[in-house]
Amino acid sequence: MQTWGNLPYAPPYRQRRLSERAAPLAADAVNEGAGASLLAYGNGRSYGDVGVNSGGELLLTRGLDRFIAFDAETGVLRAEAGVLLDEIVRVFLPRGWFLPVTPGTRFVTLGGALANDVHGKNHHVGGTLGCHVPRFELLRSDGARLECSATEHADLFAATIGGLGLTGLITWIDLQLRRVPSPAIAVDNHRFHGLDEFFALNAAAEKTHEHVVAWIDCLAREPRGILMAGNHAETAAATEPAAVPLPPTFSSALQLSVPVMPPFSLINRASLTAFNATYFNRPLPARETKHCLPYFYPLDHVLNWNRLYGRRGFYQYQCAVPKAGQEEATAALLAAIGQSGQGSFLAVLKTFGDAVSPGMLSFPLPGTNLALDFPNGGAPTLALFKRLDAIVAEAGGRLYPAKDACMPPALFRQGYPRLEEFSQHVDPRFSSNFWRRIMA
Ligand SMILES: Cc1cc2nc3c(=O)[nH]c(=O)nc-3n(C[C@H](O)[C@H](O)[C@H](O)COP(=O)(O)OP(=O)(O)OC[C@H]3O[C@@H](n4cnc5c(N)ncnc54)[C@H](O)[C@@H]3O)c2cc1C
Repeated sequence: MQTWGNLPYAPPYRQRRLSERAAPLAADAVNEGAGASLLAYGNGRSYGDVGVNSGGELLLTRGLDRFIAFDAETGVLRAEAGVLLDEIVRVFLPRGWFLPVTPGTRFVTLGGALANDVHGKNHHVGGTLGCHVPRFELLRSDGARLECSATEHADLFAATIGGLGLTGLITWIDLQLRRVPSPAIAVDNHRFHGLDEFFALNAAAEKTHEHVVAWIDCLAREPRGILMAGNHAETAAATEPAAVPLPPTFSSALQLSVPVMPPFSLINRASLTAFNATYFNRPLPARETKHCLPYFYPLDHVLNWNRLYGRRGFYQYQCAVPKAGQEEATAALLAAIGQSGQGSFLAVLKTFGDAVSPGMLSFPLPGTNLALDFPNGGAPTLALFKRLDAIVAEAGGRLYPAKDACMPPALFRQGYPRLEEFSQHVDPRFSSNFWRRIMA
């Protein structure tokens, strides 16, 4: 089973497909004798090894794909854990409902999204996905099916949200959808030069906009980028579907795709510098109203874009640093990346708000979040990560397990103060490469 970063991992000894009809089988799978460890696998959109279980068993959850119930009054959807966010959006957006929080791709399962307690562009007002999940069912390896909420099995509830699949198998989830006036979003675009300008624009935009995110040119001498702040549109024109057409590349028939994996990365300093300059200087309307999907999921235009990095795969480095000192830490991180000449066009800068997730290991903290892809360049890439780790540790920050493949255990312990408490709720039969690496 490949992970999104296409990094090489030894395979599991067995993969078991779970399905709705085989729901009792899910119980068998976790009950079956002692032996290899178990781990749920959603849609493989995590970059590193949180979803990898070399030598163990993977429980493939995509077959758990039913909607179970929807309350049109409250907007609470109960769905099996293998349902894709894409499937929820396709059914519910035309009916005036959207996800309360969404990551930058809609091709993730509900279970995978909860296990990483994903965040979106609205963290400053909406918190993480776990803030919108009042209840779910957890199947433990002793066969117990536990309905977990803030009041029932509250410890397991908090451990499982952002629990990296280690507390058992989530079978279904209640998700509080949010009403939207139309599929349209009104986006204000701002070019910025320098981090001071970014932080000023960002602070202003967070007061007026629900969704705020910036693309950043990580190789420019002075950091520059584009801040994109959006609100679900309420204009009469935008409620007409024709007024906000979906780009053809979002329909499955016309979707673009990278068909094969090149032997080497097509992302290098030359291609990157050219791309970034073109992207930064492209004609940019100050305000545009468009379909919300290209805004939320710009990378979903191109299927399998991760193949562009070639057979050696790639890493994502995603860190959050606390508000106090965020300007200096972010500047130091970008300076180290710029000096290294590494990085890619996928570089995202955004601030997290104060919302506290129920999850014990949830990643976001109030402060600044930086995420960048790096082709796997071997030793120079790992040397750069060491420098970045030191800056993050010094700032009191943390790295995001969903994207991680090489965080040092000490940084994990420092960044996640509830780790000991969490460990007590790990199911004795569940494990992952990430967990074994980090707890070694
Ligand atoms: C292009 C792109 C953009 C992204 N943008 C964002 C973003 O903006 N914000 C963000 O937070 N993340 C982002 N991500 C990361 C992605 O949202 C997470 O990695 C997500 O968890 C992947 O879900 P998945 O279904 O593919 O799960 P997998 O990657 O298959 O698994 C992830 C974890 O969930 C566990 N798991 C899966 N299903 C279950 C289950 N039923 N029960 C228990 N545990 C389970 C697995 O064991 C594993 O630990 C992005 C990823 C990509 C590729």
